Amino acid sequence: MSVIEIPGHPHPKPGEVPLEAVRACLGDCHRCPLGGTRTNLVFGVGDPHARVMFVGEAPGRNEDLQGEPFVGAAGKNLDALLAFAGLGREEIYIANVLKCRPPGNRDPQPGEICACSPFLREQIRSVWPDVLVCLGNFAMRFVLHTDRGITSMRGRFYQTGHFAVLPVFHPAAALYSRDKQGDLEADFRLLGSWLAEHPAGEGA
Ligand code: SF4
Repeated sequence: MSVIEIPGHPHPKPGEVPLEAVRACLGDCHRCPLGGTRTNLVFGVGDPHARVMFVGEAPGRNEDLQGEPFVGAAGKNLDALLAFAGLGREEIYIANVLKCRPPGNRDPQPGEICACSPFLREQIRSVWPDVLVCLGNFAMRFVLHTDRGITSMRGRFYQTGHFAVLPVFHPAAALYSRDKQGDLEADFRLLGSWLAEHPAGEGA
């Protein structure tokens, strides 16, 4: 996995590098072939000091067109699910493993993840949330370094270093599955309970 250095921040502490500096480092990125097929690079959006950061897979069609994560049908579902955790969009930060849309929404490829994920790592270090919610398999495998599938991992928290990690189905995968939607609602309720049991400032 490659590592990036943010100019002016050779040895940054958690929360020290502003998101703007990470975005500036990306620039008009063409570190992988997706730079040649995207419409917009989708960096991330939300509260730069959020307690809860959501990690998705990659931009879809609407996200590519608008330059923001989770603006399509999956985004509407995410908004509805956040209510189960007692959260609003303005309280969270969202970014994807890949910042550019894979053509036809195909799966991210290992080389693309290798090129792009150092920027997600820097975003996580910048926001330094208490909770990372992984939306789907690719985000979960990146954060938890596992080959297991989301179906067997969802439904509970995992502690990895500073972060409490909650893997959940991707909201897009639940649009046509009542079972998955029910599991997502249960997992977002679990997130709300965790936040209530771990008030801000008390650590994870
Ligand atoms: S997917 Fe990531 S590494 Fe590839 S071009 Fe886009 S920003 Fe750069």
